[in-house]
Amino acid sequence: MPATAELERMLRGASLRVTRPRVAVLAAVHDHPHADTSSIIGAVREEIGAVSPQAVYDVLRVLTDAELVRRIHPPGSVARYESRVGDNHHHLVCRSCGAITDVACAAGAAPCLTAADDHGYAIDEAEVIYWGVCPACSTA
Ligand SMILES: [Zn+2]
Ligand SMILES: [Zn+2]
Repeated sequence: MPATAELERMLRGASLRVTRPRVAVLAAVHDHPHADTSSIIGAVREEIGAVSPQAVYDVLRVLTDAELVRRIHPPGSVARYESRVGDNHHHLVCRSCGAITDVACAAGAAPCLTAADDHGYAIDEAEVIYWGVCPACSTA
């Protein structure tokens, strides 16, 4: 996990005020890639004690809007958060246990944003999910 000073630098770099909940949530997302909100709340509580779920939701939204955190939402799963942003990586999701694994973009930098036909939309994100069964589940 990045040092607190590093997390504070990230917040300031995104023009965000440094607060304890923001630092704790950012640390939790760095420590637990693809964690859902309830795991993040648990990690934040271990770090700074009592904090309301709503406060964590609010911080996650601020961090996501500032692009310090990326929100992914595989169909059939709750929203997950990760600190690996801006590289257009994709995800492997296990149909059996729900494990999520990062996978580098197949063709380089954000090619999927260039749709064959954008139908006039201003496209800003393409989320690719590869569904399958993870090694642990397929040998079980
Ligand atoms: Zn699995
Ligand atoms: Zn990821």
